[in-house]
Amino acid sequence: MKSAVDHLLDLVAIPSVSSMSNRSVIDYALAELNPTAWSIQLYAYRDAAGIEKVNLLATTGARVAELLLVCHTDTVPFDSAWPEAVNPKVRNGKLYGRGSCDVKGYLACILAAVSELDVRRLSKPLAILLTADEEIGCVGAKYIAGKNAIRSRYAIVGEPTGLRPVRAGKGYALAEIVVRGKEAHSAFPARGRSAIYDGARVVARLEQVAKKLAARKNADFDPPYTTLNVGLIRGGTAKNIVPGECRITVEWRPVPGVDPNWPAMLIQEELARLKRRYPGFDAQLDVQRMDPTFDPSSTDALATLVQSLARRRPATVAFGTEAAHLRSLTTETIVFGPGNMETAHKTGEFVPTAELNKCVEILKKVIERLCGPSDHYA
Ligand SMILES: [Zn+2]
Repeated sequence: MKSAVDHLLDLVAIPSVSSMSNRSVIDYALAELNPTAWSIQLYAYRDAAGIEKVNLLATTGARVAELLLVCHTDTVPFDSAWPEAVNPKVRNGKLYGRGSCDVKGYLACILAAVSELDVRRLSKPLAILLTADEEIGCVGAKYIAGKNAIRSRYAIVGEPTGLRPVRAGKGYALAEIVVRGKEAHSAFPARGRSAIYDGARVVARLEQVAKKLAARKNADFDPPYTTLNVGLIRGGTAKNIVPGECRITVEWRPVPGVDPNWPAMLIQEELARLKRRYPGFDAQLDVQRMDPTFDPSSTDALATLVQSLARRRPATVAFGTEAAHLRSLTTETIVFGPGNMETAHKTGEFVPTAELNKCVEILKKVIERLCGPSDHYA
Protein backbone atom coordinates (compact mmCIF):
# COMPACT_ATOMS: atom_id res chain seq x y z
CA MET A 1 0.00 0.00 0.00
CA LYS A 2 1.37 3.42 -0.97
CA SER A 3 2.17 6.00 1.71
CA ALA A 4 1.36 9.70 1.38
CA VAL A 5 5.04 10.31 0.54
CA ASP A 6 4.86 7.71 -2.29
CA HIS A 7 1.71 9.34 -3.66
CA LEU A 8 3.21 12.80 -3.42
CA LEU A 9 6.38 11.77 -5.29
CA ASP A 10 4.09 10.47 -8.07
CA LEU A 11 1.83 13.53 -8.06
CA VAL A 12 4.60 16.16 -8.16
CA ALA A 13 6.09 14.33 -11.16
CA ILE A 14 2.84 15.02 -13.06
CA PRO A 15 3.03 18.73 -13.95
CA SER A 16 -0.37 20.43 -13.60
CA VAL A 17 0.20 24.17 -13.89
CA SER A 18 -3.16 25.90 -14.27
CA SER A 19 -2.46 26.69 -17.95
CA MET A 20 -2.28 22.92 -18.70
CA SER A 21 -4.99 20.28 -18.52
CA ASN A 22 -5.26 18.68 -15.06
CA ARG A 23 -6.57 15.44 -16.61
CA SER A 24 -3.43 13.40 -15.71
CA VAL A 25 -3.76 14.21 -12.00
CA ILE A 26 -7.45 13.24 -12.09
CA ASP A 27 -6.54 9.99 -13.88
CA TYR A 28 -3.97 9.25 -11.18
CA ALA A 29 -6.57 9.72 -8.43
CA LEU A 30 -9.11 7.62 -10.37
CA ALA A 31 -6.67 4.74 -10.54
CA GLU A 32 -6.17 4.91 -6.76
CA LEU A 33 -9.87 4.97 -5.78
CA ASN A 34 -11.31 1.49 -5.35
CA PRO A 35 -14.13 1.24 -7.95
CA THR A 36 -16.19 -1.06 -5.71
CA ALA A 37 -16.25 1.59 -2.97
CA TRP A 38 -16.66 4.87 -4.85
CA SER A 39 -19.14 6.17 -7.36
CA ILE A 40 -17.43 8.69 -9.57
CA GLN A 41 -18.72 11.66 -11.50
CA LEU A 42 -16.50 13.86 -13.68
CA TYR A 43 -17.39 17.51 -14.35
CA ALA A 44 -15.31 18.66 -17.31
CA TYR A 45 -15.24 22.02 -19.03
CA ARG A 46 -12.99 23.88 -21.44
CA ASP A 47 -11.13 26.93 -20.22
CA ALA A 48 -10.81 30.21 -22.16
CA ALA A 49 -7.87 28.74 -24.12
CA GLY A 50 -9.95 25.67 -25.09
CA ILE A 51 -8.05 23.34 -22.76
CA GLU A 52 -9.99 20.56 -21.03
CA LYS A 53 -10.25 20.86 -17.23
CA VAL A 54 -11.78 18.14 -15.10
CA ASN A 55 -13.34 18.18 -11.62
CA LEU A 56 -13.80 14.81 -9.95
CA LEU A 57 -16.50 13.99 -7.45
CA ALA A 58 -16.27 10.62 -5.71
CA THR A 59 -18.88 9.51 -3.16
CA THR A 60 -19.38 6.37 -1.10
CA GLY A 61 -23.14 6.83 -0.93
CA ALA A 62 -25.91 9.34 -1.39
CA ARG A 63 -25.53 12.82 -2.81
CA VAL A 64 -25.71 14.23 0.70
CA ALA A 65 -22.40 13.44 2.35
CA GLU A 66 -21.46 13.67 5.99
CA LEU A 67 -17.88 14.68 5.18
CA LEU A 68 -16.43 16.16 1.99
CA LEU A 69 -12.68 16.34 1.36
CA VAL A 70 -11.80 19.03 -1.19
CA CYS A 71 -8.48 19.49 -2.95
CA HIS A 72 -7.41 21.45 -6.01
CA THR A 73 -5.26 19.72 -8.62
CA ASP A 74 -3.53 22.66 -10.33
CA THR A 75 -0.34 24.47 -9.29
CA VAL A 76 1.23 27.83 -9.94
CA PRO A 77 3.95 27.90 -12.66
CA PHE A 78 7.57 27.06 -11.87
CA ASP A 79 10.98 28.29 -12.94
CA SER A 80 12.43 25.95 -15.62
CA ALA A 81 15.82 26.38 -13.93
CA TRP A 82 14.49 24.53 -10.84
CA PRO A 83 15.15 20.84 -11.66
CA GLU A 84 13.22 19.47 -8.65
CA ALA A 85 10.00 21.22 -9.66
CA VAL A 86 8.72 18.05 -11.38
CA ASN A 87 11.51 15.68 -10.23
CA PRO A 88 10.64 15.64 -6.55
CA LYS A 89 13.24 14.75 -3.93
CA VAL A 90 13.11 14.01 -0.21
CA ARG A 91 15.93 15.59 1.80
CA ASN A 92 16.17 15.99 5.59
CA GLY A 93 12.52 15.14 6.12
CA LYS A 94 11.26 17.56 3.48
CA LEU A 95 9.73 16.69 0.13
CA TYR A 96 10.66 19.30 -2.49
CA GLY A 97 8.79 20.05 -5.72
CA ARG A 98 6.15 22.29 -7.27
CA GLY A 99 2.81 21.65 -5.62
CA SER A 100 4.33 19.56 -2.80
CA CYS A 101 2.95 22.06 -0.30
CA ASP A 102 0.20 23.77 -2.35
CA VAL A 103 -1.55 21.43 -2.44
CA LYS A 104 -0.69 17.99 -3.78
CA GLY A 105 0.55 17.09 -0.29
CA TYR A 106 -3.03 17.15 0.99
CA LEU A 107 -4.20 15.18 -2.08
CA ALA A 108 -1.56 12.53 -1.32
CA CYS A 109 -2.87 12.36 2.28
CA ILE A 110 -6.49 11.91 1.11
CA LEU A 111 -5.47 9.05 -1.23
CA ALA A 112 -3.42 7.35 1.49
CA ALA A 113 -6.13 7.78 4.16
CA VAL A 114 -9.02 6.39 2.09
CA SER A 115 -6.94 3.42 0.89
CA GLU A 116 -6.00 2.52 4.48
CA LEU A 117 -9.65 2.50 5.60
CA ASP A 118 -12.36 0.22 4.29
CA VAL A 119 -14.67 3.01 3.20
CA ARG A 120 -17.35 0.50 2.13
CA ARG A 121 -18.07 -0.07 5.81
CA LEU A 122 -18.70 3.57 6.66
CA SER A 123 -22.25 4.15 7.85
CA LYS A 124 -22.48 7.73 6.57
CA PRO A 125 -21.35 8.88 3.11
CA LEU A 126 -17.86 10.25 2.54
CA ALA A 127 -17.08 12.34 -0.56
CA ILE A 128 -13.98 13.62 -2.31
CA LEU A 129 -13.98 16.63 -4.62
CA LEU A 130 -10.90 17.33 -6.76
CA THR A 131 -11.04 20.65 -8.55
CA ALA A 132 -9.34 22.42 -11.45
CA ASP A 133 -8.08 25.99 -11.83
CA GLU A 134 -7.99 27.06 -8.17
CA GLU A 135 -4.85 29.13 -8.66
CA ILE A 136 -6.46 31.28 -11.35
CA GLY A 137 -9.65 32.18 -9.48
CA CYS A 138 -11.24 29.03 -8.01
CA VAL A 139 -12.85 28.33 -11.38
CA GLY A 140 -13.46 24.61 -10.74
CA ALA A 141 -14.93 25.18 -7.25
CA LYS A 142 -17.27 27.87 -8.60
CA TYR A 143 -18.33 25.47 -11.38
CA ILE A 144 -19.16 22.73 -8.85
CA ALA A 145 -20.99 25.18 -6.55
CA GLY A 146 -22.99 26.47 -9.54
CA LYS A 147 -24.01 22.89 -10.42
CA ASN A 148 -24.97 22.13 -6.81
CA ALA A 149 -23.13 18.88 -7.45
CA ILE A 150 -22.90 17.79 -3.81
CA ARG A 151 -24.09 18.66 -0.34
CA SER A 152 -22.22 17.81 2.81
CA ARG A 153 -22.61 18.55 6.48
CA TYR A 154 -18.86 18.96 6.94
CA ALA A 155 -16.07 19.87 4.52
CA ILE A 156 -12.29 20.04 4.79
CA VAL A 157 -10.77 22.16 2.03
CA GLY A 158 -7.06 21.45 1.56
CA GLU A 159 -4.51 24.24 1.77
CA PRO A 160 -1.22 24.35 3.66
CA THR A 161 -2.18 25.53 7.14
CA GLY A 162 0.51 23.71 9.14
CA LEU A 163 -2.26 21.29 10.25
CA ARG A 164 -4.18 24.08 11.97
CA PRO A 165 -7.95 24.07 11.41
CA VAL A 166 -8.78 27.35 9.69
CA ARG A 167 -12.32 28.64 10.29
CA ALA A 168 -12.32 31.91 8.34
CA GLY A 169 -10.46 33.71 5.59
CA LYS A 170 -10.21 37.08 3.94
CA GLY A 171 -11.88 37.78 0.62
CA TYR A 172 -10.10 39.12 -2.44
CA ALA A 173 -10.85 41.93 -4.85
CA LEU A 174 -8.89 43.20 -7.83
CA ALA A 175 -9.52 46.44 -9.70
CA GLU A 176 -7.91 48.75 -12.22
CA ILE A 177 -8.18 52.51 -12.22
CA VAL A 178 -7.74 54.04 -15.68
CA VAL A 179 -6.72 57.70 -15.58
CA ARG A 180 -7.07 59.60 -18.86
CA GLY A 181 -5.14 62.76 -19.76
CA LYS A 182 -4.22 64.35 -23.06
CA GLU A 183 -1.01 63.73 -24.96
CA ALA A 184 1.14 66.67 -26.09
CA HIS A 185 4.80 67.39 -26.92
CA SER A 186 6.63 67.66 -23.63
CA ALA A 187 8.03 71.04 -24.68
CA PHE A 188 4.44 72.35 -24.47
CA PRO A 189 2.94 70.73 -21.38
CA ALA A 190 0.08 73.24 -21.19
CA ARG A 191 -1.31 71.82 -24.45
CA GLY A 192 -1.87 68.45 -22.83
CA ARG A 193 -2.90 66.98 -19.51
CA SER A 194 -0.60 64.58 -17.69
CA ALA A 195 -2.36 61.35 -16.78
CA ILE A 196 0.61 60.55 -14.55
CA TYR A 197 0.17 63.69 -12.42
CA ASP A 198 -3.52 62.81 -12.07
CA GLY A 199 -2.57 59.19 -11.40
CA ALA A 200 -0.26 60.32 -8.60
CA ARG A 201 -3.20 62.18 -7.03
CA VAL A 202 -5.21 58.95 -7.18
CA VAL A 203 -2.40 56.95 -5.56
CA ALA A 204 -2.13 59.46 -2.71
CA ARG A 205 -5.89 59.08 -2.09
CA LEU A 206 -5.61 55.29 -2.19
CA GLU A 207 -3.17 55.49 0.69
CA GLN A 208 -5.84 57.39 2.65
CA VAL A 209 -8.43 54.74 1.73
CA ALA A 210 -6.06 52.06 3.07
CA LYS A 211 -5.89 53.95 6.38
CA LYS A 212 -9.70 54.09 6.60
CA LEU A 213 -9.90 50.35 5.94
CA ALA A 214 -7.34 49.67 8.66
CA ALA A 215 -9.54 51.40 11.22
CA ARG A 216 -12.20 48.63 11.07
CA LYS A 217 -10.76 45.75 13.02
CA ASN A 218 -11.41 42.01 13.01
CA ALA A 219 -9.18 40.65 15.76
CA ASP A 220 -9.29 37.10 14.34
CA PHE A 221 -6.90 38.11 11.57
CA ASP A 222 -3.27 39.10 11.11
CA PRO A 223 -3.19 41.91 10.13
CA PRO A 224 -6.58 42.52 11.82
CA TYR A 225 -8.18 44.61 9.05
CA THR A 226 -8.86 44.84 5.32
CA THR A 227 -5.57 45.46 3.52
CA LEU A 228 -5.20 47.38 0.26
CA ASN A 229 -2.24 47.31 -2.13
CA VAL A 230 -1.34 49.36 -5.18
CA GLY A 231 0.65 46.67 -6.93
CA LEU A 232 1.17 48.05 -10.41
CA ILE A 233 1.28 51.42 -12.09
CA ARG A 234 1.71 51.90 -15.79
CA GLY A 235 1.61 55.15 -17.74
CA GLY A 236 3.06 57.23 -20.53
CA THR A 237 4.66 56.27 -23.83
CA ALA A 238 7.94 58.24 -24.04
CA LYS A 239 10.12 60.67 -22.10
CA ASN A 240 9.16 63.60 -24.32
CA ILE A 241 5.41 63.05 -24.46
CA VAL A 242 2.96 64.34 -21.90
CA PRO A 243 1.34 61.03 -20.84
CA GLY A 244 -2.19 60.44 -22.07
CA GLU A 245 -3.01 57.42 -19.93
CA CYS A 246 -2.09 55.91 -16.57
CA ARG A 247 -3.33 52.58 -15.24
CA ILE A 248 -3.24 51.68 -11.56
CA THR A 249 -3.81 48.12 -10.36
CA VAL A 250 -5.19 47.87 -6.85
CA GLU A 251 -6.26 44.86 -4.77
CA TRP A 252 -7.88 44.53 -1.38
CA ARG A 253 -8.48 41.62 0.99
CA PRO A 254 -11.61 42.22 3.02
CA VAL A 255 -12.00 40.65 6.47
CA PRO A 256 -15.30 38.84 7.25
CA GLY A 257 -17.76 41.35 8.66
CA VAL A 258 -16.76 44.05 6.18
CA ASP A 259 -18.75 44.54 2.96
CA PRO A 260 -16.24 43.61 0.21
CA ASN A 261 -17.73 46.46 -1.84
CA TRP A 262 -16.92 49.05 0.82
CA PRO A 263 -13.35 49.72 -0.44
CA ALA A 264 -14.72 50.22 -3.98
CA MET A 265 -17.23 52.74 -2.61
CA LEU A 266 -14.46 54.62 -0.76
CA ILE A 267 -12.35 54.71 -3.94
CA GLN A 268 -15.32 56.02 -5.97
CA GLU A 269 -15.85 58.77 -3.39
CA GLU A 270 -12.20 59.81 -3.66
CA LEU A 271 -12.34 59.86 -7.47
CA ALA A 272 -15.47 62.05 -7.33
CA ARG A 273 -13.70 64.40 -4.88
CA LEU A 274 -10.69 64.69 -7.23
CA LYS A 275 -13.02 65.45 -10.12
CA ARG A 276 -14.58 68.35 -8.21
CA ARG A 277 -11.22 69.68 -7.13
CA TYR A 278 -9.37 69.35 -10.48
CA PRO A 279 -11.48 70.30 -13.52
CA GLY A 280 -10.77 67.95 -16.43
CA PHE A 281 -9.70 65.10 -14.12
CA ASP A 282 -10.88 61.81 -15.65
CA ALA A 283 -10.52 58.44 -13.91
CA GLN A 284 -12.59 55.27 -13.94
CA LEU A 285 -12.63 52.38 -11.49
CA ASP A 286 -13.06 48.94 -13.04
CA VAL A 287 -13.55 46.11 -10.49
CA GLN A 288 -12.34 42.93 -12.19
CA ARG A 289 -12.64 40.37 -9.44
CA MET A 290 -14.55 40.14 -6.18
CA ASP A 291 -14.12 36.89 -4.26
CA PRO A 292 -16.28 36.53 -1.16
CA THR A 293 -14.90 36.30 2.36
CA PHE A 294 -14.76 32.87 4.01
CA ASP A 295 -17.04 33.53 6.95
CA PRO A 296 -16.81 31.32 10.02
CA SER A 297 -19.50 28.60 10.25
CA SER A 298 -22.11 28.85 12.99
CA THR A 299 -21.00 25.46 14.36
CA ASP A 300 -17.46 24.50 15.33
CA ALA A 301 -17.76 20.72 15.82
CA LEU A 302 -15.39 19.88 12.96
CA ALA A 303 -12.86 22.57 13.90
CA THR A 304 -12.91 21.36 17.49
CA LEU A 305 -12.43 17.72 16.45
CA VAL A 306 -9.48 18.55 14.17
CA GLN A 307 -8.01 20.84 16.81
CA SER A 308 -8.04 18.02 19.36
CA LEU A 309 -6.48 15.52 16.93
CA ALA A 310 -3.85 17.87 15.49
CA ARG A 311 -3.17 19.64 18.78
CA ARG A 312 -3.09 22.92 16.90
CA ARG A 313 -5.22 25.97 17.67
CA PRO A 314 -7.83 27.12 15.12
CA ALA A 315 -6.66 30.00 12.95
CA THR A 316 -7.62 32.29 10.11
CA VAL A 317 -5.84 32.94 6.82
CA ALA A 318 -5.18 36.06 4.80
CA PHE A 319 -5.15 34.24 1.46
CA GLY A 320 -8.20 33.27 -0.60
CA THR A 321 -9.37 29.65 -0.69
CA GLU A 322 -12.07 27.55 -2.32
CA ALA A 323 -13.85 27.43 1.05
CA ALA A 324 -15.45 30.81 0.37
CA HIS A 325 -17.02 29.48 -2.83
CA LEU A 326 -18.17 26.13 -1.44
CA ARG A 327 -19.85 27.47 1.72
CA SER A 328 -23.31 27.19 0.14
CA LEU A 329 -22.86 23.40 -0.16
CA THR A 330 -21.94 22.74 3.45
CA THR A 331 -22.92 23.47 7.04
CA GLU A 332 -19.42 23.65 8.49
CA THR A 333 -16.24 24.11 6.50
CA ILE A 334 -12.63 24.32 7.58
CA VAL A 335 -9.41 24.76 5.61
CA PHE A 336 -6.66 22.38 6.65
CA GLY A 337 -3.55 20.67 5.36
CA PRO A 338 0.14 19.91 5.78
CA GLY A 339 2.88 22.45 5.01
CA ASN A 340 3.22 26.18 5.38
CA MET A 341 1.87 28.58 2.75
CA GLU A 342 4.98 30.72 3.16
CA THR A 343 7.06 28.01 1.46
CA ALA A 344 4.57 27.66 -1.42
CA HIS A 345 4.45 29.61 -4.69
CA LYS A 346 8.23 29.82 -4.92
CA THR A 347 11.29 27.88 -6.02
CA GLY A 348 12.27 25.44 -3.30
CA GLU A 349 8.65 24.71 -2.29
CA PHE A 350 8.51 21.80 0.14
CA VAL A 351 6.35 19.99 2.67
CA PRO A 352 7.66 18.21 5.81
CA THR A 353 7.09 14.45 5.43
CA ALA A 354 6.24 14.14 9.15
CA GLU A 355 3.30 16.49 8.58
CA LEU A 356 2.12 14.34 5.68
CA ASN A 357 2.07 11.25 7.86
CA LYS A 358 0.38 13.08 10.71
CA CYS A 359 -2.23 14.47 8.31
CA VAL A 360 -3.08 10.94 7.11
CA GLU A 361 -3.65 9.81 10.71
CA ILE A 362 -5.84 12.84 11.42
CA LEU A 363 -7.91 12.35 8.26
CA LYS A 364 -8.48 8.67 9.08
CA LYS A 365 -9.67 9.54 12.59
CA VAL A 366 -11.93 12.36 11.35
CA ILE A 367 -13.47 10.04 8.73
CA GLU A 368 -14.09 7.33 11.32
CA ARG A 369 -15.45 9.74 13.89
CA LEU A 370 -17.85 11.47 11.48
CA CYS A 371 -18.73 8.69 9.03
CA GLY A 372 -17.95 5.58 11.10
CA PRO A 373 -18.10 3.00 12.36
CA SER A 374 -15.33 1.40 10.39
CA ASP A 375 -13.95 -1.19 12.79
CA HIS A 376 -12.34 -3.04 9.95
CA TYR A 377 -9.12 -1.94 8.27
CA ALA A 378 -8.52 -3.01 4.69
ZN1 LIG B 1 -3.67 26.06 -2.95
